[in-house]
Amino acid sequence: MNIVILSRNPNLYSTRRLIEEGENRGHLVEVIDPLKCDIIIEKEKPTIYYKDRYLDYVDAIIPRIGASVTFYGCAVVRQFEMMNVFTICTSDAIQRSRDKLRSLQRLSKAGIGMPKTVFTNYSRDVEEVIEHVGGVPVIIKLLEGTQGLGVVLAETKNAAESVLEAFNGLEARVIVQEFIKEAKGADIRALIVDGQVVGAMKRQGKEGEFRSNLHRGGSANIIKLNAEELKLAMNASRALKLPVCGVDMLQSARGPLLLEVNSTPGLEGIERATHKNIARAIITFIERNKN
Ligand code: ADP
Repeated sequence: MNIVILSRNPNLYSTRRLIEEGENRGHLVEVIDPLKCDIIIEKEKPTIYYKDRYLDYVDAIIPRIGASVTFYGCAVVRQFEMMNVFTICTSDAIQRSRDKLRSLQRLSKAGIGMPKTVFTNYSRDVEEVIEHVGGVPVIIKLLEGTQGLGVVLAETKNAAESVLEAFNGLEARVIVQEFIKEAKGADIRALIVDGQVVGAMKRQGKEGEFRSNLHRGGSANIIKLNAEELKLAMNASRALKLPVCGVDMLQSARGPLLLEVNSTPGLEGIERATHKNIARAIITFIERNKN
């Protein structure tokens, strides 16, 4: 098969592992920068032009679209879909998952447990917003944040007020969320391939840090999920139509609670923590689905 990884950086761990496992299984694997693709739209023969050639020979794509290039990256993924090329995640699903609010709305409809969350149109009635999530402490999150940036823990009403005022002043959209204290600065990342959990790790934030992101200095260890956690992870993948994704959740007194679903999960942390060959699982998923 001709497999294309849509990525801006062929040297990233995840990209390198996917190339390695694809080649191990006898495929031709190429890394293409989606931003260097021209999309050619016409009546019957939609195509993509890259450097000096048409990408009309591709069997399957693995989108690894960074958050900052979602618009153009998804347009390229959509064009491959128009060309009947198999993709491990659709452009619609990627776009949906990039919008935290939209995802949470869909996930709550699918009956998935999550920290109580409020979204308002820059409401000045901070007290009421805080009451909705059960009082302080609260978590305030920028809708567009990634890697834990823009996630604030406000321990007092005054702090919450100041932070909300600051974000409102910048016209930055935020959600306010119940703080799950029992999580103790840890979260769980389940890696899903073909709708099934293929590996899971518990990430612990560094001392004194409530955010467990590895980018913020957290550490990760393999964990065996219980039945409830497995169910939540697989339901979240199904609800967002992302057969390959990373599902983040918190362990709370009332069971696992969903944090977010990532359509381009990094493979480094999870492969190192679990010693599982996740890249190969992604390649064999493509083999089973490409007709
Ligand atoms: P990002 O997408 O930027 O990583 P997250 O929503 O995943 O943002 O939050 C970053 C980290 O902050 C999480 O991994 C978790 O450890 C912590 N966190 C987020 N929301 C809550 C919450 N409601 N209660 C407790 N901890 C939280």
